[in-house]
Amino acid sequence: SAKKSGRNTYTFFTESMNRGVSRELALEEQLHGALKRNEFRLVFQPQIDVVSGTIVGAEALLRWHNHLLGDISPEEFIPIAEHTGLIIPIGEFVLTSALQAVTQWQAHYGSELRIAVNLSPRQFRDPNLIDFIKSALNRSGVSASTLELEITEGVLMSGHSFIDEALQDLSELGIRLAMDDFGTGYSSLSYLRRYSFDTLKIDRSFIKDISVSTANRELVTAIIAMGHALGLEIVAEGVECTKQQTFLCEHQCQYAQGYLFNRPMNADDVTEALSQQSTSAQAKSVQHSPEL
Ligand code: C2E
Ligand code: MG
Ligand code: MG
Ligand code: MG
Repeated sequence: SAKKSGRNTYTFFTESMNRGVSRELALEEQLHGALKRNEFRLVFQPQIDVVSGTIVGAEALLRWHNHLLGDISPEEFIPIAEHTGLIIPIGEFVLTSALQAVTQWQAHYGSELRIAVNLSPRQFRDPNLIDFIKSALNRSGVSASTLELEITEGVLMSGHSFIDEALQDLSELGIRLAMDDFGTGYSSLSYLRRYSFDTLKIDRSFIKDISVSTANRELVTAIIAMGHALGLEIVAEGVECTKQQTFLCEHQCQYAQGYLFNRPMNADDVTEALSQQSTSAQAKSVQHSPEL
């Protein structure tokens, strides 16, 4: 009967809502002890020069394996870390570990290699943010321009003056700023003009359809042209096939990340990839050098 199914629907919703709430509570509870239990680690996704195919840097991506709940996606736990404020100590762990990794890579494979780190809106409310970044850079010994901080439009939308000041301070230190997930937020163009960004990352959703959708091809072409007009470097996110790579090459988008090139991997695997790259570069230069 209608009444019965109505009750079933009601029961179904309360149960699934309870499940949702209790999962969130469980995650929050576990998140509190996660740093102490050493449950976080970073993986790194190489950023590629699409023309030469070489690695120019990597983006640090956080991973959480909880002893009770298993692997939890950052899409699920970062928002909880944000609203609890736990993102502050977690973000410090991310920065420190990411700088450690790039220090190793640079020692063997050149000081031009960069590391990109994601920053959450909540981290900008931390009065200690700038000092922490400064001293983490000093401890690591890499130059400020090694570090690129990725922020989304959500950070800028609040319009708080401390965000303006923090972004100003960061770029005066020589730290690079990247606008992440470009095209998914609001008023992007005015933000790009107002703040001193170095890099624009085209959101994966635009890259996804370039081989099938004319509209998306034109959008991506326009974003690249606009970014270049503003003097920005452009990174395409989520490149999964060679058609996309070819399109990006042809439209002067210089950098890309995506499964076509690499899945996110641990720091030692990046070192290994850099070592293979330098071996093959040496082989090429031997091939091309004049005969002895
Ligand atoms: P994001 O910064 O836009 O990172 C890119 C996401 O796309 C990563 O997901 C990456 O694994 C995924 N990805 C890369 N290439 C491809 C591809 O070719 N195809 C597809 N389908 N996906 C690809 P992930 O690692 O799950 O991270 C999700 C989001 O969580 C990140 O988006 C970022 O906003 C946030 N996040 C991750 N680590 C951190 C962190 O340390 N701090 C903060 N605040 N946020 C983080
Ligand atoms: Mg990012
Ligand atoms: Mg992104
Ligand atoms: Mg994203």
